[in-house]
Amino acid sequence: MTTQSAAAAVRATVYGYPRQGANRELKKAIEGYWRGRTTAAELHRTASDLRRNSWRSLADAGIDEVPTGDFSYYDHVLDTSVMVGAIPERHRAAVAADPLDGYFAMARGTQDVAPLEMTKWFDTNYHYLVPELSPDTVFAPDPRKQVAELEEALALGHAARPVLVGPVTYLLLAKSAPGAAADFDPLTLLDRLLPVYAEILARLRAVGAKWVQLDEPALVQDRTPAELGAAERAYGHLGGLGDRPKLLVASYFDQLGDALTVLARTPVDGLALDFTERAATNLDTLAAAGGLPGKRLVAGVVNGRNIWTDDLERSLATLGTLLGLADRVDVSASCSLLHVPLDAAAEHDIEPQILRWLAFARQKTGEIATLAKGLAHGTDAISAELAANRADLASRAGSPMTHVRAVRARAAAVTPADARRSQPYAERAAAQRAHLGLPLLPTTTIGSFPQTTGLRTARADLRAGRTDVPEYEKRVEAEIREVVSFQEETGVDVLVHGEPERNDMVQYFAEQLTGYLATRHGWVQSYGTRYVRPPILVGDVSRPEPMTTRWTRFAQSLTDRPVKGMLTGPVTMLAWSFVRDDQPLGETARQVALALRDEVNDLEAAGTSVIQVDEPALRETLPLRAADRPAYLAWATEAFRLTTGGVRPDTQVHTHMCYAEFGDILAAIDALDADVISLEAARSHMQVARELASAGYPRAAGPGVYDIHSPRVPGTDEVAGLLHEGLAALPPERLWVNPDCGLKTRGWPEVRASLENLVDAARAVRSAL
Ligand code: GLN
Ligand code: ZN
Repeated sequence: MTTQSAAAAVRATVYGYPRQGANRELKKAIEGYWRGRTTAAELHRTASDLRRNSWRSLADAGIDEVPTGDFSYYDHVLDTSVMVGAIPERHRAAVAADPLDGYFAMARGTQDVAPLEMTKWFDTNYHYLVPELSPDTVFAPDPRKQVAELEEALALGHAARPVLVGPVTYLLLAKSAPGAAADFDPLTLLDRLLPVYAEILARLRAVGAKWVQLDEPALVQDRTPAELGAAERAYGHLGGLGDRPKLLVASYFDQLGDALTVLARTPVDGLALDFTERAATNLDTLAAAGGLPGKRLVAGVVNGRNIWTDDLERSLATLGTLLGLADRVDVSASCSLLHVPLDAAAEHDIEPQILRWLAFARQKTGEIATLAKGLAHGTDAISAELAANRADLASRAGSPMTHVRAVRARAAAVTPADARRSQPYAERAAAQRAHLGLPLLPTTTIGSFPQTTGLRTARADLRAGRTDVPEYEKRVEAEIREVVSFQEETGVDVLVHGEPERNDMVQYFAEQLTGYLATRHGWVQSYGTRYVRPPILVGDVSRPEPMTTRWTRFAQSLTDRPVKGMLTGPVTMLAWSFVRDDQPLGETARQVALALRDEVNDLEAAGTSVIQVDEPALRETLPLRAADRPAYLAWATEAFRLTTGGVRPDTQVHTHMCYAEFGDILAAIDALDADVISLEAARSHMQVARELASAGYPRAAGPGVYDIHSPRVPGTDEVAGLLHEGLAALPPERLWVNPDCGLKTRGWPEVRASLENLVDAARAVRSAL
């Protein structure tokens, strides 16, 4: 099926690999260094051992060109800021005194200096440190890290390709430094940045880089002609340099669209494109543009951000089509493998049959190597792998776990009426006023109270068998008693039980729903040394037993004030898990919504009059391309309404989201038809309230008046001031008083003081109305 020249050329490669090591050695070493228990030399040694192991395991799996520079002590965008000398003024002295400590100061801040801002890397759960640039930024090349890691890989005998964040994406991800004009556009610095990249490329070439990869994932988002023009200028310039390695420009997470044609006509030597389902149009765009004659194409056919075994035959078919479109086709994952756990083989608790459906980073590299072999030498060369793969896919498709008749029948029978409350908001609001008898400006919290060491120890003891279930439950009840009596004494109007039984807002529910799997070692980097272990949504979802009613009912038995029931919403249950790829997301969301609906209805039946369904992920899973957003928002909001649509008009539905910028999903927030929404607002001086008001949002809202991201206790006057700002936008009948988010990461003393002030402020403002 292949020509001789293709056979000679096909290579297997990846753009990046999990950094932490099989036992999270990197996390331990870095945190040890922060605590003064590990020396810098020990940390560097651990890091270099980890890199060596990763390259070796890639090479052993058949990856013949390994990435370098993808490793990081904290974040690869921060590494890029260091590489181009974009050190904010406030961190200069620390970086000059000690580059490693200065680096960590930029990442985490110190007693005196604020860190860089952190935000999500596209639509993944990885967070990067936002470059801070201003018209005064002076770039200067400092590629010591990138050079050293390349030298290290070359010395070990690997064919290696440095991977850098490209200049256009770097600038598009940056923000104005504090003090710079608000309308300053970092992209205007491109002409200053390009010579720095040119010098870095020359240095990498001097130590032996044949190819360098420049990642430009920002080009898969909707881009203006000016931004596309910047990309064309950047790669026209870098491609035109005399002394340079070959350049591979990589994109991932979506289709390139117009940017593909733009990049294809620049004098770079290759493009790496995502060919997974969400970027499917890349194939047509590439064909329509006449392919990449004379260039190298790296085909990201193996999905780099899910954990499912690849359909090798389908990927081979895609690769076969691509062979006709470029000078040379290599095989890769669609993006860095940073976003998946390291090794499925470490999961001893998952049934062997199901384990074969899963591919983590190690398994994916095997798939990539197999595909490269098949592409080069024909399918006969990989017939055993193909047969095994067919069997695994068939076992997954035919498994009773992935197709539960009752679940499917129920989802298919959903009618629009199921996703609609029985009365419109205005009528419900009146019924709820009568039923709940709350004052104006009612006070509440977002759900969790401090997760103390005692609680965590109790959970660990339960897991390890040192405590039995009754003992553990007594411990949880004691905590709930304390949380409830504190709220009663303080005078909070709508109480919570404090969520002491929850390890994590997604995992807690995933453990109790059918269709979810948990991993033991499936860690994925969220930011810095923080790793999460997302559950795997593998099959059809249902709720065999009530999940939260026991605790909410217990809390309600302790007080006459209403206790709010607390659930994680369907979109967030998907967003913070690895979800199945064998059916549309909307269908999976509908199953989860129906399972949660059972819980909502049971809470109501158990006497709960206020029920909160958290959807902090609603905005973060918004598709990268605007054209894909309406379809997403349609199923996402339907799932929320299906979760909450079955309750009586006088039962009050709350939702919560943890961000202050939601302008682009305002209509969707309205479509949730929740009675009350709480949002983050304390830092933005209630901007949220003004935005809701100017959009004509008709329902009640609680813009946060207590910033829970800091241990600082807000004063009563400060909270009252924020409430007045809220009242300038929203009428008193529709304004709630609450913190920005849950309190689980805070300590009791500051929480006590802050909530006392919050209640005092609400009382003062209320009595003056
Ligand atoms: N109810 C959750 C809590 O209070 C909400 C957390 C969140 O919004 N991320 O912890
Ligand atoms: Zn929140």
